[in-house]
Amino acid sequence: MKIYHLFERYLQPIRKWTQSLFFIYFLFFSGLCLCVLGVIERFILMRDFYLTSTLVVLLITLIFGRVFCGWVCPLGFIFHGVYKLKMKVSNLKFPPTVPEEIHSKMIYLKYGLLVLFLYLTYKLSTYAFCKVCPLGTLTNLYGTVVSIMLLLFFLIMGFLYPLFFCRYFCPIGALLGIFSIKPLFKLKIDNEKCVNCKLCDRRCPVQIELTKGIPQHECIRCFECKSICKKDALKYEI
Ligand code: SF4
Ligand code: SF4
Repeated sequence: MKIYHLFERYLQPIRKWTQSLFFIYFLFFSGLCLCVLGVIERFILMRDFYLTSTLVVLLITLIFGRVFCGWVCPLGFIFHGVYKLKMKVSNLKFPPTVPEEIHSKMIYLKYGLLVLFLYLTYKLSTYAFCKVCPLGTLTNLYGTVVSIMLLLFFLIMGFLYPLFFCRYFCPIGALLGIFSIKPLFKLKIDNEKCVNCKLCDRRCPVQIELTKGIPQHECIRCFECKSICKKDALKYEI
């Protein structure tokens, strides 16, 4: 068996371990240098060029899409755990969905929040997003009472609807989304192999209907769709 196929077979366990290790990193070493938005806020406030890690993350995003969201982000790790728990306790085979007419509009909210937080950072001369980031509470970075309350709110909403924060509210996801509108490596359906069973549509935690087209900027590269497809019809390639 080729290494690539071995990797594909254990994709989900490998992803979980990667997410867990990054979560520990963020928890104990604080994650500012890996949080692309935190570093940009710092740049706006202090005009220092502490941007190397951000440039690396943005370059990876240009090539592979939003792998940061699905493999690195500690908030993603928490909210993945929460919706998996919900599926387990409710004995669900597929994650619950938000009505499409609401979902299709709410996905734009995060882009507005990105602009708002950058504006507030500049205008108020403060780390506007870091102060309310649900992770700030856990990492001792800039956690406030507001960030604790937001963490609780998004934990509840994330229990009801998978990755509720990531889909609609995360300005970091929005920033990375802008850089992954046309990534080099794209997730595609091989129409020769696809039997239109729609298992991938129902499995996607951010509610992408793959069979109708894959918006690369909304895909968090979790590859849950790829793992569930019984026809090996999902390709991730240039
Ligand atoms: S799970 Fe695979 S075969 Fe089924 S619709 Fe998706 S890509 Fe096609
Ligand atoms: S389309 Fe596939 S890889 Fe992208 S978020 Fe949905 S399940 Fe994950």
